[in-house]
Amino acid sequence: MTVPSHPVVELTGVTKTYGDVAALRSADVVIRRGELLAVVGPSGSGKSTMLNIMGTLDRPSAGTVRIDGHDIDRLSDRELSALRAGTIGFVFQQFHLAPGVPALDNVADGLLYSGRTRADRRRLAERAMRRVGLGHRLYHEPHQLSGGEKQRVAIARAVLGDPPLLLADEPTGALDSRSGAVVMELLHQLHEAGTTVVVITHDRDIAASLPREVRLKDGAIEHDSAPGAALPAARLPREAVR
Ligand code: ADP
Ligand code: MG
Repeated sequence: MTVPSHPVVELTGVTKTYGDVAALRSADVVIRRGELLAVVGPSGSGKSTMLNIMGTLDRPSAGTVRIDGHDIDRLSDRELSALRAGTIGFVFQQFHLAPGVPALDNVADGLLYSGRTRADRRRLAERAMRRVGLGHRLYHEPHQLSGGEKQRVAIARAVLGDPPLLLADEPTGALDSRSGAVVMELLHQLHEAGTTVVVITHDRDIAASLPREVRLKDGAIEHDSAPGAALPAARLPREAVR
């Protein structure tokens, strides 16, 4: 038997409460390298809470979070920032591009704290812009780009350092259906090139078009189409491990 590589994300019994609101309730999710999956559910079901915890932007109230094999509870803030910078790319519904700044520099700034020279950052940014099909928009500012183009710039920035994990929170939420389809196609291409991609969406059609769906309802996982994947081996029922 081959030993599987460690999961890129492992949430075990993860709960997140805000005051008396349980945004996430005892969630177990294992995501392996190379997966492409949707986290789907209605507004308020805990999707962004789960993504922020997977992305180490937020710590859980209870439970364990492992990213690329590291228990994040055991890491200092500095170690956690380094893990995040080297491992995770983020894409958000609202693009988060700096206004008045050319697309190329918006992308290059994703490596601002990487210790690379400006020339090096811009060279990598240009490559990432070509990768998302925007080699002809390097010097356009955000207001000169369509919504779909802005999201592709944001994706170029997210994948600049080649992170193994890409977390996208409603990446098509602000786009018309045609631009949304282009963005989804791009996420598929990144997945085919080896990136693990998690797409948060309230859109059931988008979720159903991906190989795996984790469905949230009222902060709890109500369905995971990868049976058994959600349970770490030690917690599998006995017949399953025999
Ligand atoms: P979704 O992304 O599925 O729309 P969220 O994860 O944003 O859901 O929110 C889940 C629940 O947690 C909601 O009831 C929301 O109001 C609550 N919540 C999320 N973030 C906070 C916060 N920072 N403070 C208080 N309540 C929050
Ligand atoms: Mg959300």
